Amino acid sequence: LAKESGRNKFRFYDSQLNEIMIRKVKIENELRKAIDRNELKLFYQPKINLYTREISGMEALLRWDHHELCAIPPLEFVPIAEETGQIVAIGEWVLREACKQSKAWHEEGFTNLALSVNVSVRQFQHSDFVQTVQDIIMETEIDPRLLELEITESIMQNVDESIDVLNRLRKLNIKTAIDDFGTGYSSLHILKNLPIDTIKIDKSFIHDIKAGTQQSLVKSIIDMGKNLKLTVVAEGVEHEHQAELLANYQCEFGQGYLFLKPVNAYDFERFLVRNDKDNVSKFNMV
Ligand code: C2E
Ligand code: MG
Ligand code: MG
Ligand code: MG
Repeated sequence: LAKESGRNKFRFYDSQLNEIMIRKVKIENELRKAIDRNELKLFYQPKINLYTREISGMEALLRWDHHELCAIPPLEFVPIAEETGQIVAIGEWVLREACKQSKAWHEEGFTNLALSVNVSVRQFQHSDFVQTVQDIIMETEIDPRLLELEITESIMQNVDESIDVLNRLRKLNIKTAIDDFGTGYSSLHILKNLPIDTIKIDKSFIHDIKAGTQQSLVKSIIDMGKNLKLTVVAEGVEHEHQAELLANYQCEFGQGYLFLKPVNAYDFERFLVRNDKDNVSKFNMV
């Protein structure tokens, strides 16, 4: 009997695993056609100066609306695209699209709006990466000083190669940020030697300051960033008291649902126009 139920149990896990595999293969196949079918979209979320409450820039965030699989979150399909290498082509599309859109907004008068774009490790380590970035800057005529590329701490597994890429990006006048800071492989020693401009404190740390705990931890991350002469951005700012606390701790920038959730380009432009008219200071949600 034990053997019997053991076998059933095994079959249960087996079929569950099978379902996961089927979905993964399906996503992989559909993703191959996603660019051509125009299923990929970019959403934008503002980056806010926590001292002045002005909009200093935005982060482009990838969305995929598949006709049948519905909205598949990037946390599900980006890792698959990374595994298969598809992220290289997708990432190039993202960067080009985001630069085109920023350029259009710059020309509409939002001249100092900065742009942040997420770059996966696989993309970052691709031998053509820096050249591709340079080509897109030339092609879209965006001011490279307004472009920031977000990478994660996982690039530190190849420190020497990564430092080389970061230096080449710096020569192009592009900024770089460590995203989800504090969740990965951070060594203060390595960080100190990385030619980066910004750290983005992971939203899990910001979430926890709600309860009043973690405040000293967040403060020490901010202080460390400042000591290394880095710009500090907080992710996941959802409540006013978090924004105030962060500003008191000298964290200059924040992003989060408190200001605006990521929205499509049309709604983001409305947000820009409205806050420009109001001469900034307080936001109206879309
Ligand atoms: P990320 O780069 O850390 O982006 C921030 C994520 O936090 C976004 O999730 C955003 O919607 C969400 N967020 C923003 N404000 C708040 C808040 O106040 N509270 C909470 N709980 N969440 C907030 P999203 O758009 O689902 O993206 C998830 C991740 O997928 C991104 O994390 C990034 O790692 C990856 N990703 C998104 N777009 C791209 C892309 O174009 N290329 C690559 N390689 N990765 C991307
Ligand atoms: Mg990011
Ligand atoms: Mg990211
Ligand atoms: Mg993040």
